[in-house]
Amino acid sequence: MHQAVEELKMILIAYLVVAIIASMIAAVGSFGGQGPGSVLAKGDCGENRMEILVLYDNNAYRRDLKTGWGFSCLVKGLEKDILFDTGGSGSVLMRNMEKMGVSPEQVDTVVLSHIHGDHTGGLEAFLQANPRVTVYLPQSFPANFKQGIKSYGAKVVPVTGPVKIIEKAYSTGEMGVSIREQSLLLLSKKGTIVITGCAHPGIVKIISMAKALTKQRVLLVMGGFHLGGAAPHELEAIISKFKDLGVRYVGPCHCSGDSARAMFEDAYEDHFIDVGVGRAIKIRELY
Ligand SMILES: [Zn+2]
Ligand SMILES: [Zn+2]
Repeated sequence: MHQAVEELKMILIAYLVVAIIASMIAAVGSFGGQGPGSVLAKGDCGENRMEILVLYDNNAYRRDLKTGWGFSCLVKGLEKDILFDTGGSGSVLMRNMEKMGVSPEQVDTVVLSHIHGDHTGGLEAFLQANPRVTVYLPQSFPANFKQGIKSYGAKVVPVTGPVKIIEKAYSTGEMGVSIREQSLLLLSKKGTIVITGCAHPGIVKIISMAKALTKQRVLLVMGGFHLGGAAPHELEAIISKFKDLGVRYVGPCHCSGDSARAMFEDAYEDHFIDVGVGRAIKIRELY
């Protein structure tokens, strides 16, 4: 009898030890991806599914979509879908979204790069379709603009310095002097993806900021580079800075200018991505 009780005790102790070890392993696992050091966490977190859909641009990629002066793209495959900028016209944005199979409801987070109408013009139409979003915008936006967003029931997050938006997605923070602008940074195992609206603070400055913040190589820089008025020698200098900074892929569109696009294509060859409305960029296809 006494021996049976002893055996039972041993079994219970063994169970207890296993349970404690299991809970310790679970705790370490859950802290791993979310601690303060996770900016550089190399976890997967769905990044293999990360995809960028260009919803709005003045350059055409898919001919069945409408072009318009401005820029907007959707980042899919992270924990939330992010709409970056909204183009100039709500009707064009909504039509292109529909044709690309994107429903407004799938967007949880909106990031506005800067105040110009070719990046914010589609916001109202979008909020009418889905107000259940959080809008990250530069803190310098006028109060009535922020109030207008809140009147739809959406949440507003004013951005000053660099900030984490969701896991693997960060803002550079407000940059520039006269036209304040934030850029979107996406973290992948292959490097950082930088998405710019108009790059008014200077495209090279933005990339340098992205490198300083994420401390990893830059996989792709895409969006408006604001080089429409740049002379060939200025473009050459900028492209060599891209190379110095180790930028692997480029996708200049919107306000980058035709000569800049052509010169980047010459310099980057098969690492040049022809970005226009309708383009879908799968991060797993880059290397
Ligand atoms: Zn602008
Ligand atoms: Zn613009």
